[in-house]
Amino acid sequence: MKAPSAAELLAIWERGASLLPAEHAKMLIEAVFPEKSAPELAELTIGQRDSFLFALRDILFGQEIVCLSVCPGCNKNVEMAFTSADLRAKAGSEQQKDNLLSLERSRYSVRFRLPNISDLMAISGCRDTNMARSMLLMRCLISASENGAEMALGQLPQDVMKELVDDMARADPLADIQFMLVCPFCGRKWQVVFDIVSILWSEIDAWAHRTLREVHTLALSYGWSESDILALSPSRRQIYLDMVGM
Ligand SMILES: [Zn+2]
Repeated sequence: MKAPSAAELLAIWERGASLLPAEHAKMLIEAVFPEKSAPELAELTIGQRDSFLFALRDILFGQEIVCLSVCPGCNKNVEMAFTSADLRAKAGSEQQKDNLLSLERSRYSVRFRLPNISDLMAISGCRDTNMARSMLLMRCLISASENGAEMALGQLPQDVMKELVDDMARADPLADIQFMLVCPFCGRKWQVVFDIVSILWSEIDAWAHRTLREVHTLALSYGWSESDILALSPSRRQIYLDMVGM
């Protein structure tokens, strides 16, 4: 895994401006694994993808994560601070090695796989959450049988489907990180979903604006080109910024 350079990250940020979160994640993963082919990377499960995004975030912005959530009880902003290691621990059990799973429940037997990057790309344009969810599930079902006889995948009962979704979450714990928050103002508890893709992308967005301002300042002061300024290490760039009073 390699961290993208400042110039590469800016190019990704610029290309991603009009794209959806699933596409942001895909571009970032492709940038950190330039040696792997796009079809190879498309098979990463969501949890595997997010584990690499956490590692990328550690390199770019450090392990500390601070975000805000609005309390549903009193409407106040509650600040959450943790480390990426805390979040991995909250996600719990280990990532399953094999992406193929099976489920036996009463007379039903189902074979399925974990959702991966290409599944998310396929449903990313779908605005109806329920429809997107069922499209995702149908893509991941491989075969189903009732009392040993092959059956249509769409005929599986709801309770079997529900169990299947729970099995997927257990097998790929980083794919869906949720935890309880307690409001320090009113004591209300609520469930928070931690979405590494949107958090990392918003940090990259803030970093890009900051970096372009720095390029602007140094280009004005020294006449250097954008590529020369981006090639400076962050600490060296900061020393020059200090010298021009930024
Ligand atoms: Zn509250």
